[in-house]
Amino acid sequence: MAKLGRTVDEIQLVKRVVRALSSRTGTQLRLGIGDDAAILKPRAGVEWVVSCDGFYEKVHFNLDSHPPESVGYKSLARATSDLAAMGAKPRFFLLTLALPAACTGVWLDRLLRGMTRAADAFGLILAGGDTANHSTVAISITVIGEVAPGHAVTRAGARPGDRICVSGTLGRAELGLGLVLRGLAKGWQWQRLLQPHLFPQPRIALARWLARRGLASSMIDLSDGLSTDLAHICEASGVGACVNAGRIPAVSVPPALRHRRFDPLTLALHGGEDYELLFTVPPKREHELRASSKGLRLTCIGEITKVRVVILEDSSGRKRRLEPRGWDHFRNH
Ligand SMILES: [Mg+2]
Repeated sequence: MAKLGRTVDEIQLVKRVVRALSSRTGTQLRLGIGDDAAILKPRAGVEWVVSCDGFYEKVHFNLDSHPPESVGYKSLARATSDLAAMGAKPRFFLLTLALPAACTGVWLDRLLRGMTRAADAFGLILAGGDTANHSTVAISITVIGEVAPGHAVTRAGARPGDRICVSGTLGRAELGLGLVLRGLAKGWQWQRLLQPHLFPQPRIALARWLARRGLASSMIDLSDGLSTDLAHICEASGVGACVNAGRIPAVSVPPALRHRRFDPLTLALHGGEDYELLFTVPPKREHELRASSKGLRLTCIGEITKVRVVILEDSSGRKRRLEPRGWDHFRNH
């Protein structure tokens, strides 16, 4: 990618980013920002888990409807949730920030405020990055985490009979997005409902707890929506699933919003960006979930099956195929 020359302005901009995110070197970050590349020194006896994520204006957010603090926070939260999904402890991140000149003033300060809040909350240290002038805002983040050898949880370990579990409540982020898209984001009465969309919380502590105990046979973070992410687990594990609709912890929609076609079950099944965890647990170990001290609601919503199809069973026992109708970049556009 062609990049603008390193102008005085760019140097100032990099300084502001570094100051805000207080990149600090330590035993593992031997050399941080300021050279051509960073030098990381892994601790003995850990494996590194690495992932990258792009967060783009007009694809994932809009300048007129999303506060810059949310854009900064969420760009890091999304990437970190993928580390959580593997059971890893977040350590470092690399940031590529492409911005139009109009966004290099107060907007950038506010973005960095949100990103700093996320970095502190998730335990991430900025190890390096790059900036460029671009017509729209594009944020690319690489995250690096660590896990004890062999403890990372993949999507591929689900076995027939395993219980299918989720953390938290599903559909909250999609409800928040719906409010933004319907122009209701300014209403003071809906501010609480917007938070899961603007400032989602990756479930790092819970995921590490599951991974350390070897409780989860497979795991994924709910970024695209339950119907799509469960299909990912089934595909990777070579299994099917039966989900009980009545057991899904769906978001509750306030009565005042019901006429706006927010259906709790649809939001919970197909709504993206909750960043809760979807994982499977062998039936013999299901009781151990109660010992989770993370204060988070954990719900078993169904069971892994041998036949490679995902079924949704309603409260009266009727069964239908659950099609993956969550987020897909190349279908939703
Ligand atoms: Mg993911």
